[in-house]
Amino acid sequence: MTTRQQIVVGACAAVAAATALGAALSREQVPEVDLAEAVYAALPGHVQVDTLSFGETFGQILEDAGLGTAERTSVLEAFREEAEPRRLRTGTEVRIHRVDERLHGIRVSLDRDRTVHLDCSGGVCAASTVTLITTIDTVYAAGMIESSLWSAVMNLPELASATTGDRRNFVLSLDKVFQWQIDFSRQILPGDTYRFVFEREKRPDGSMRAGHLLSAELVNSGKAYHAIWFDPNGDGDGTWYDMDGESVRRAFLMKPIELSRISSRFGMRNHPILKEWRNHNGVDYAANTGTPVQSTGAGVVVRRNRSATYGNVIDVRHPNGFLTRYAHLNSFASGVVVGSRVSQGEVIGYVGMTGRATGPHLHYEMHAAGRPVDPLAIEFPPEDPVPDDNRARWELESAARLALLFGLPGPDELRSVRADQQ
Ligand SMILES: [Zn+2]
Repeated sequence: MTTRQQIVVGACAAVAAATALGAALSREQVPEVDLAEAVYAALPGHVQVDTLSFGETFGQILEDAGLGTAERTSVLEAFREEAEPRRLRTGTEVRIHRVDERLHGIRVSLDRDRTVHLDCSGGVCAASTVTLITTIDTVYAAGMIESSLWSAVMNLPELASATTGDRRNFVLSLDKVFQWQIDFSRQILPGDTYRFVFEREKRPDGSMRAGHLLSAELVNSGKAYHAIWFDPNGDGDGTWYDMDGESVRRAFLMKPIELSRISSRFGMRNHPILKEWRNHNGVDYAANTGTPVQSTGAGVVVRRNRSATYGNVIDVRHPNGFLTRYAHLNSFASGVVVGSRVSQGEVIGYVGMTGRATGPHLHYEMHAAGRPVDPLAIEFPPEDPVPDDNRARWELESAARLALLFGLPGPDELRSVRADQQ
């Protein structure tokens, strides 16, 4: 099923030389620049491209490329002013540029966004780090849901110019900010509407470097939910609040897997393997093997082992006497061991069917004061609201972000367009 009646998407771009997630806030300070051309300009002479293999050092690459001892020393000395050669990762690309057989320059990609440039002449090298020029743009979208939010956003004609990855990111972002209010697998109904304003930072190749929802609305069964981005500390580490400045976040995520489907609820059921009525102490989520499993709350891993029943299982202990359990995992996330501190939403393992399971799914339990409880039946209090000393800035910024949102067609307009089309 496709959604035909969505209306608006627009983009307005500003150029920014961005170095961090929060760069969007400082776009006014950044001059209009066109340096990206230089990064990709064709070079005269000859460029040799090498890739750092496992266990290989930058110095070895230089030696294999035929650089003499003095030249290598000069290159490494200059390089160290920008980055530590021993920290270069396997797979790092090293481009050695020669003109008339003499070393002219070397470029080393530190990551997708930063490249160290070494300009060499007469056996002396000077180093600088070049950061990719990214652009900030804002995506506006509004539409009505006919089957699922996923298909509504993925098939929105006006978003056709966005990559599949970006559209996926928009859906996951909406899921992320509204997950505490709405269960997307159950509560979304045909006729529900959405609109959102998303700010993204793009690389020259068009891929999204970072981005987040500035404001969003979801109208579910006639009730409107809002999420407005606000960064209380101004450090780029913001979160979302409702129109009253209450956090949309709760101490626990509603579910441990993004965009998942509940296949078995908490309570009595006929056990699929044991063929008898038993109490189901958790909630099952159907998902493909390998789907990432997130810790629903911040806490400490207190169990990570394998049992006959649970298979590969992780227990996380949370404040206030809560414990969550994740069972039948195919594998554990690397670095997650007993004693690990995990944050809310952190990936701790991957869906599988180890232990007593008939197919790949996640069995998720929540315990309160040592007793299993139904995680879907508990109302968790919201996290901290907008801090009092930030209220004035919140009023200004949230009003601006809501104005962008309310400039988009709302539920009534979306429904009348739909009626016109039928
Ligand atoms: Zn189960």
